[in-house]
Amino acid sequence: MAQLQLFAKLKEIVGDANYHDVPDQMARFLEEPRGLYTKGAQCAVTPTTVEMVQKVMQFAYQNEISVVPQGGNTGLVGGQVPAMGNEIVLSLVKMKQVRDVDPSTNVMTLEAGVTVLDAQKHAEEANRLFPLSLGSEGTCQIGGILSTNAGGTAVLAYGNSRDLCMGVEAVLADGRIYNGLSKLRKDNTGYDLKDLLVGAEGTLGIITAASLKMFPRPRTFETALLNIASPQVGVDIFELVRERAGNRLTSFELLPTIGMDLQLKHNLINRDPRATETPTGWHILLELSLFEGDHDGALLAILEDLFEREWVADASLCNSVADRQLMWLMRENYAECQKREAQAIKHDISVAIRDIPTLIEQVDAVAEEILPGIRSIAFGHMGDGNIHYDFLAPIDFEGDLREIAPAIHDATYEILAKLNGSISAEHGIGQLKRDLLAQKKDPTALDMMKSIKLALDPKNILNPGKVVSP
Ligand SMILES: Cc1cc2nc3c(=O)[nH]c(=O)nc-3n(C[C@H](O)[C@H](O)[C@H](O)COP(=O)(O)OP(=O)(O)OC[C@H]3O[C@@H](n4cnc5c(N)ncnc54)[C@H](O)[C@@H]3O)c2cc1C
Repeated sequence: MAQLQLFAKLKEIVGDANYHDVPDQMARFLEEPRGLYTKGAQCAVTPTTVEMVQKVMQFAYQNEISVVPQGGNTGLVGGQVPAMGNEIVLSLVKMKQVRDVDPSTNVMTLEAGVTVLDAQKHAEEANRLFPLSLGSEGTCQIGGILSTNAGGTAVLAYGNSRDLCMGVEAVLADGRIYNGLSKLRKDNTGYDLKDLLVGAEGTLGIITAASLKMFPRPRTFETALLNIASPQVGVDIFELVRERAGNRLTSFELLPTIGMDLQLKHNLINRDPRATETPTGWHILLELSLFEGDHDGALLAILEDLFEREWVADASLCNSVADRQLMWLMRENYAECQKREAQAIKHDISVAIRDIPTLIEQVDAVAEEILPGIRSIAFGHMGDGNIHYDFLAPIDFEGDLREIAPAIHDATYEILAKLNGSISAEHGIGQLKRDLLAQKKDPTALDMMKSIKLALDPKNILNPGKVVSP
């Protein structure tokens, strides 16, 4: 009875339309993309203003009820869904106000529930670019990408979400509002609190709005898919293109050819984007952004050099918007084609770019020893040193790949440690890598993280069971 009265009070705070506890309504807040976590929740709330978020947190703090902040629910490590089953899910989906778009300072201030796609459109309406771009951009939200410090395909030129953020407004565990929205490019007034909240995965505060950087819009893009012999050639090409194109180089993605074979097999693309005369096992998808004053044909000139050096066996250069769309669709389909093909084991890891060939050579070899015939799909943001290192079950495999997964994970993380890499390049820690973080992170760094968590969330009510336990 007391419990019922308690939650009736919460319903009163947010209003009937923003309170959800019927199983049918709850499913969308509880099911996550990988289907790994299935805990329930007391209820979900969808506040519409920062003041409403504040009241929910005051309620939660007083009653010591845990809160799971949720954005677009596209996270891949289970951070946005309950870890215990008795939490309140607080979704920012209704906080979509555009507070300000200011082309003179190149800053826009958006509420946390605005999707990345809409953020791109708001910038475009002001003839500016918001450069963050990722496969989930139609659904993931500003609060979510900041809380995970998401990367995407343009990190090379513009940095990750942290680099695109100038300040945040957030509600703390006890309901206080931190107003750190800023348009200042210089502000050395003590600890960088924005950078604490960015990447905290909802464990230190609830981001309700952010001021974000905008950039000049490129006049055009030049995009090509290169056929290359090995990841080592990819590294050599990266160094040369980076030197020649500087910040015009926006994307540099490593793609094994198996991913395109699978996409054709499962009808995810309607034509082969590869140059097919000289097939190779590996590809680079690279893109230059050209601005007013830049000459067309910059990529072609670089390609001529690459052919002369015999680093590229063949290449497919985009000649139309449709060609470019196909290339990026193909790139984004690398996760989906695995889902359609077979059971998979996944890693999101990073190393120094020069170590990528060693990483792939060593991890592939050990995986083959563990399960002969296992199919490696090591792809991703090579220019950032970030590889989505996945494995598919062998053809005709009839076992359960989850039984093999621990051995593959251990071997991969052992090699990664020797290369001083990171166990999570861009997806974060969430529930999936919480225990791994405790094993792999430097103990002093872990202690510092726990102290910060305890100071900002002494009752441990913000997203418990994620990232670190105080
Ligand atoms: C098809 C696909 C492609 C993807 N591609 C990429 C990629 O290229 N690069 C990349 O980095 N990620 C990628 N992701 C992962 C995911 O989209 C990102 O992690 C994204 O940043 C999550 O945003 P979201 O709004 O969906 O947040 P959610 O999934 O809802 O939440 C993610 C985390 O942030 C917290 N959180 C959410 N909103 C707030 C808030 N307002 N305040 C405080 N905490 C909050 C949650 O508690 C959770 O811990 C991809 C995912 C999919 C499904």
